[in-house]
Amino acid sequence: MAKKEDIRNIGIMAHIDAGKTTTTERILFYSGRIHRMGEVHDGNATMDWMDQEQDRGITITSAVTTLSWKKRQINIIDTPGHVDFTAEVERSLRVLDGAVGVFCGVGGVEPQSETVWAQSERYNIPKIAYVNKLDRVGADFEKTLESIKQRLVGGALAIQFPLGKEGEFEAIVDVVKGVAYYFDQEEYGSKMVVKDIPDFAQDEFHMYRELLLDALSEVDDDFMEKVLEEQELDPNEIVAVLRKATIALKVTPVLCGSSLKNMGVRLLMDAVGDLLPSPVDKKDFQVLEKGELKSFSPNDKDSLALVYKIQLDKHMGKLLFARIYSGKIRKGDLLINQETGKKEKVMRILQMHSNKTTDLNEVSYGDIATFVGPKDVKTGQTLAGKGVSVELPKMNFPEAVISMVVEPQTKGDYDKLINSLKRLEEEDPTFFVREDGNSGQIVISGMGELHLEVLVYRLKNEFGVQANVGKPQVAYRETILNAVEYEETFDREIKGKSHYAKVKVRVSPLLQSEGTGNKNLYQTALSSNELSEEFLLAAKDGSLGGCAAGPIFSWPVRGVKIELLAAEMKDGESSGLAFSIATSTAVSRALSQANATFLEPIVKAVVLSPEEYVGDIIADLNGKRGKVVDIQNLGIRQQVVCEVPISELFGYTTRLRNLSKGRAVMSMEFLKYDLVPNKIKEAIIEKTRGF
Ligand code: GDP
Ligand code: MG
Repeated sequence: MAKKEDIRNIGIMAHIDAGKTTTTERILFYSGRIHRMGEVHDGNATMDWMDQEQDRGITITSAVTTLSWKKRQINIIDTPGHVDFTAEVERSLRVLDGAVGVFCGVGGVEPQSETVWAQSERYNIPKIAYVNKLDRVGADFEKTLESIKQRLVGGALAIQFPLGKEGEFEAIVDVVKGVAYYFDQEEYGSKMVVKDIPDFAQDEFHMYRELLLDALSEVDDDFMEKVLEEQELDPNEIVAVLRKATIALKVTPVLCGSSLKNMGVRLLMDAVGDLLPSPVDKKDFQVLEKGELKSFSPNDKDSLALVYKIQLDKHMGKLLFARIYSGKIRKGDLLINQETGKKEKVMRILQMHSNKTTDLNEVSYGDIATFVGPKDVKTGQTLAGKGVSVELPKMNFPEAVISMVVEPQTKGDYDKLINSLKRLEEEDPTFFVREDGNSGQIVISGMGELHLEVLVYRLKNEFGVQANVGKPQVAYRETILNAVEYEETFDREIKGKSHYAKVKVRVSPLLQSEGTGNKNLYQTALSSNELSEEFLLAAKDGSLGGCAAGPIFSWPVRGVKIELLAAEMKDGESSGLAFSIATSTAVSRALSQANATFLEPIVKAVVLSPEEYVGDIIADLNGKRGKVVDIQNLGIRQQVVCEVPISELFGYTTRLRNLSKGRAVMSMEFLKYDLVPNKIKEAIIEKTRGF
């Protein structure tokens, strides 16, 4: 096992097509993990990652891939670039220590790489940027560097620059060491030769060098002195200061290359080791103890691991990808799921490489490993050793906003279909499967059109289930406009035992300021003097359970405040069951009298477009019930931020392409649920009834 200082847990972030797959594959190749280099072919960009994975038999999109480079162990945690997979991005960001952003040297910064990048900023993750595809026609390192500076981070700092443009791109200058790396074109870039920086590039070198030394002087006083005194600077010393500044998020080093031509990938791997943090660079982290956030220092005895992803493997069963935050975990250990309180046994500990897995006996903090054995564990839950009573903070997963009806092609396939969908649901915390009680239909929901498309693709390819899918529909929620009180008595004998409960509830719309559509709120003024803890808990469960299916179409209810106003029990005749049923019934009935309507998902859409098309695009979005909230001039392009109901955005990519001769791009993410206008409400009812 590598020493802790030599471990790098990193993610590679990129916009689709920037070259993430190609770069990752080159990294695996150079680290000796795969022995044949594949080429990525043009094709359907949205689907290509899956085809590639299958065609090549390597798991470059597995949750983690471990490799070694020089003395370092690099764990690459898969980080998808498409915003439809925000949850995947979110959870990988939780467990990594640093990241590489891959940018296309032709396209510059795309809105989607910006979204991922912005997410990583929220987690304070140190990054390096890699400008790829510099061999391509139209590639421009300076311009891309400029757009990274403008759009993403102030501290972007070139530590390399290319020699030769487009087809003539032949070398990379290392601004820190002051040398040029030439790549042998005949050998397809595989040979790397160090040479002096040629005369014609000296001015450029000095310019970048000065920018670098200036930036580093600002973050390190001793270094500044040396620079001012024009002392000889040891490259190792520069690297040390650069590393410190990178980890402190003061600068983002920018590298360059062409992964396709094998230029720059090895230098990028060096930089990952030299500049990005190891697990021990961060001294402590946040945990929850009895609901309170506090900081925790990793130590040798308190075992603590966060399960950040679950995959079901045909042969090994349930794989739990986890990061160990403290202590040691050994094969055979019993761990406690901090949410359920259940004991779970770790039968095997695996390290995943791109083409094989290795069994380990023990892992410790800073490691990322895969557990086999624990059964009752979900993504985001904490597993801890004996005597540890803290939990790692929960992950936030966005709401499912799109749903689709799925039907088996033959009746006999129904069970197989539902079982396969349930398995996918188990792996993906943003994917939901529901059997509609009224129609008997299977409804799946997720975060976007692409998200569901990918899952249906997996259904066919991995599970061999042929299914007919309906058109994507908006995943509406139901809510209410009026407040209603309702009293309900439950009094029944079940198996010779009486169950009695009398309750009075009040349902009312949540105020906008309380985050109307995203949740329900339960309150009661009753204390355990009036009703036992057990019955109070049952009443809460029942009340919230009553919101599972709304009065109009049995869709989930949101944006409702539920108050338990009064409750009555009879000694020896009451039960939790009775309170649960009574409150659930009372809430359901109250909701049906409270002028129910629909909530629709609103997304935040970010459009980047050359100025000449912006007017048309804004007019178009306004016609789609969109509310433009921000317009910014970003030099080459304008950025329009707009809040739009997702129902208006089906197939919008194509429309945008037509409006802008293909030059505008859009990304979106879920923002909130909002009330639908009356006209739309009627349309939804008509459409759903007519089904
Ligand atoms: P991803 O979507 O970010 O994973 O991007 P891919 O690695 O799949 O690459 C997208 C396309 O760009 C493919 O056709 C690659 O062959 C091509 N590509 C990737 N890197 C380079 C590069 O450095 N130079 C050129 N010319 N093409 C590249
Ligand atoms: Mg790819």
